[in-house]
Amino acid sequence: MTYHHFSATMHPMELVELFRKAEQLAADGEDDEARELFLRLTEFPETGALAFFRLGEIENRKKNPEESYICHMKAFELEPDLAARFVDEQRSGYVYTYRYTKVGETEVAQCPLCNAPGEMHSVYNMCTNNDFLEGFNPVRIWRICRQCNHIFAAGYPDNLQKVLSSTAPESHIAPRLQFLPGLSDTLARLRRFSHGNRMLEVGVGAGELTSVAKEMLFDITGVEIRKAYAQNVAARLDIAVSPVDFMDFTADDPFDLLMLGDVLEHTIKPLGTLEKANRLLVDGGILWISTPNFESAFSFIMKDKDPMWRVCEHLNYFSYRSLMKALSLTGFEVVDYRSSKHYNGSMEVTARRRDNKSQQDDHAECDAG
Ligand SMILES: [Zn+2]
Repeated sequence: MTYHHFSATMHPMELVELFRKAEQLAADGEDDEARELFLRLTEFPETGALAFFRLGEIENRKKNPEESYICHMKAFELEPDLAARFVDEQRSGYVYTYRYTKVGETEVAQCPLCNAPGEMHSVYNMCTNNDFLEGFNPVRIWRICRQCNHIFAAGYPDNLQKVLSSTAPESHIAPRLQFLPGLSDTLARLRRFSHGNRMLEVGVGAGELTSVAKEMLFDITGVEIRKAYAQNVAARLDIAVSPVDFMDFTADDPFDLLMLGDVLEHTIKPLGTLEKANRLLVDGGILWISTPNFESAFSFIMKDKDPMWRVCEHLNYFSYRSLMKALSLTGFEVVDYRSSKHYNGSMEVTARRRDNKSQQDDHAECDAG
């Protein structure tokens, strides 16, 4: 490729014009032509970083994740304050001051469900999402396990627990009232599957589901790792909310229903979380899960515009198939599937805990095999 018709003294307006043209081409799906223009724009200090950022997105769409990673990193090398460029586009109303710093990461090379090595799937820049936390690296590599059809983050911050426990987004303190009727539908459906009334909700957040469960006379208990949220919901609803990590939670008696709403995608070891849920449930107990599905109708349509790719706290991105596999491995069978009415692209899966006798039979089969 030649650059002879560009000069270092090119008028800034010409550069802007050229950049707009490249943006339009990319928006129209003309990635090949857009790539050519962006590549030329990397030569100029005014446009270099943003051009590399766009090239990162294009290479990602073209399924060249290695090149995408290089481009995204080059963008930050050239301009650590790159995020400020997205103020108008993504963050209307406030100045975004994020400056790139490399965070120490624990690498995840193997599938959390089956331990097979995952291949590089895609690369996204997380700092364009509103919920980006500065304790994370902004450039996320996703890996895929073809055996499980499961996608997972290639790494997470070494001090993940500290990053999470020291941040409590204000937005999760105020209950979203518009969710209440939909949650009532969910609980009414679960009641038909369940033989009992004792319910545990993991991650109560602002307490929307908890309050509907109380209205519907479920015997509800909560767990919430963020203390401020736990106290808030306990005080508002006058129910017990343990301010601990779910993995450290204990109960004297098992539960009939266990709610894992938007929890599983955050965990480093999703199988450990599901095993814990199994131990806390009665035989035949009901587990309800809500989690993003990368093979949802929404994701099929949105492709790389799907915001889930850029949520830094999400370490697992399930498909219906990978979730079914995880449930089967931990002693559950799926009894209901539907797409979420609250979150675009999320699935709501209800599963029944297999009773102890059939779980033992499964183990015997595994041993024999
Ligand atoms: Zn796997």
